[in-house]
Amino acid sequence: MWNITVDEALARVTAGTARLEAEEVPLHEADGRVLAEDITAPIDLPPFANSAMDGYAVVAADLAGASVERPVRLPVVTRVAAGQGETTAIQPGQVARIMTGAPIPPGADAVVKFEDTLAPSPDEIAFTQPVAPGTNIRQPGEDVTAGQVALQAGMPLSSPALGLLAALGYAAVPCVRRPRVAVISTGDELISPGQPLPPGKIHDSNGLMLAALARQFGGMPAVYGAAGDTQASLHATLARALSEQPDLILTSGGISLGDFDLVKDILRAEGEIDFWQVRMRPGKPLAFGHIAGVPLLGLPGNPVAAYVGAALYARAVLLALQGLDPAPALYDAVCAEPIRNGSGRRNFLRGVAEMRGTRLQVRQIGGQLPTQLAPLARGNCLIVAHEERAMYDEGETVPVLLLASGLQPPLG
Ligand code: AMP
Ligand code: MG
Repeated sequence: MWNITVDEALARVTAGTARLEAEEVPLHEADGRVLAEDITAPIDLPPFANSAMDGYAVVAADLAGASVERPVRLPVVTRVAAGQGETTAIQPGQVARIMTGAPIPPGADAVVKFEDTLAPSPDEIAFTQPVAPGTNIRQPGEDVTAGQVALQAGMPLSSPALGLLAALGYAAVPCVRRPRVAVISTGDELISPGQPLPPGKIHDSNGLMLAALARQFGGMPAVYGAAGDTQASLHATLARALSEQPDLILTSGGISLGDFDLVKDILRAEGEIDFWQVRMRPGKPLAFGHIAGVPLLGLPGNPVAAYVGAALYARAVLLALQGLDPAPALYDAVCAEPIRNGSGRRNFLRGVAEMRGTRLQVRQIGGQLPTQLAPLARGNCLIVAHEERAMYDEGETVPVLLLASGLQPPLG
């Protein structure tokens, strides 16, 4: 397939992708991981009836006639602290001093908070109003009931979800294995960051950028540095990557029509090409195929094109491998300025989106050349101008792809 649409490309990169297997992950390492199985609550939450307030555990019927004019005065017979295992029962006509989280003593059926009581003496408390049974008591299972599905398979674990699993007593849970992502740059001009630049050379920006993107979408990147522009060098680097059993290979560069653009050739010779060239901008020279059964996304060399291709297709593969919905997460934004697309391709323009009142508003930022990485780095979204639209007027709605997980503050 050649010169396909973005939607076709998205469908093709995820076609037939099966979710990876489950592995047991300690809770303290499970942040952002995807649950592989439903989690059933082994216990009630809360596990026992306990006080929602610092106050007095009472028999509600004792306070039936209480008023400011005729307070009910009752003796304090015991005290219950949070964490206490055994408690002394109270009888009608008695109260227990009780702290938040402490178990409700047998016999008590309500808690009156300190602020609603008077203490004429340390051993005696006066109540000036009635209390309904159950007041200020947290019932067992009112959050989660034992045997109930507390969290469903397929859920990415957020910090509250980890808190819930900890409350249920889990120290480890089954999660989908993180996809291993091999990141390979190509080009004789590339020098590792940190090294001085000889004439004609540039720093490899794609390697680190793509590794970070892989991590953002749950992957475990391994960066193999830059392969040189020869079949032998590229072959050796690919062989090194394949020996570590990646679930996805990302290459950048060498996918165009230049004399040294070898990725396509090697994919054709040693694997199979599924498609080459997508009707998008930037990022038209992009290939997808398999080598030794491993999906390989051949991204363009220009950093913005490489990023956009990865943000669409590498993201989709990574999410599908984790059993998540691979569709791009698009939001509608209002154009703060006219947005032009003369390309006839789907155009991913670098932009800044911000909330204005209740609506997301977007404008372009900086230059839009595929080599201009700074606007992409300073912005927070890609504006998705459709191939069939030459123009979006100010005030019209255009879809945007947010780059971070949430909205960011306004940026330069
Ligand atoms: P290519 O398709 O290999 O000709 O690359 C297109 C452009 O992207 C060239 O200007 C390359 O120097 C540049 N490029 C390729 N790979 C990288 C990389 N890893 N980091 C920065 N620029 C790159
Ligand atoms: Mg090159």
